[in-house]
Amino acid sequence: MKIISSLFLLLIAACAFLYTPTEARIAQPQTMTDVAFNGEKITKTNAQWKRVLTPAQYTVLRKSGTEAPYSHPYTKLKAKGTFHCAACKLALFSSENKYDSKTGWASFYQPIAAANVIESEDTSNPMETRTEITCARCGGHLGHVFKDGPQPTGLRYCMNGVALKFMPAAGSTTTKRRATARRS
Ligand SMILES: [Zn+2]
Repeated sequence: MKIISSLFLLLIAACAFLYTPTEARIAQPQTMTDVAFNGEKITKTNAQWKRVLTPAQYTVLRKSGTEAPYSHPYTKLKAKGTFHCAACKLALFSSENKYDSKTGWASFYQPIAAANVIESEDTSNPMETRTEITCARCGGHLGHVFKDGPQPTGLRYCMNGVALKFMPAAGSTTTKRRATARRS
């Protein structure tokens, strides 16, 4: 009896899956609205990345470059919104977790979701072994994380602004200003 009821439940689950509209089942990794990484990675050749990134973005994201301190407007940006990967648009950091580290780079004390960034050991600087942060979806280099950040984490995610794409929160002053500009 137990086996029969289990099989029946399985049948119901299978039917529910089959009747789910196709578009609901297919993940849409390239939207600007997703928050937690769904595990579907994006891989492109260097030539393909070169076609979709600016030279500055390519140098940082694909060649692990570092932008000059204070060179990017995101360092001092205080607007409310979300910072996405400039290459694959995965949401990475929230303005809620941004702070002024006075280092010259956009700094956050935590990512938007732990699954959205990958930590790995970076030994490229012989003077200091650092922890590199890359985008979990496309593997793009974003920056490094250091243990001198503010509470509650004590961490400083030191990010290259050029590797990020800021999306203002709905109803934020930036959005309102843009809407006004469009109307006039
Ligand atoms: Zn990415």
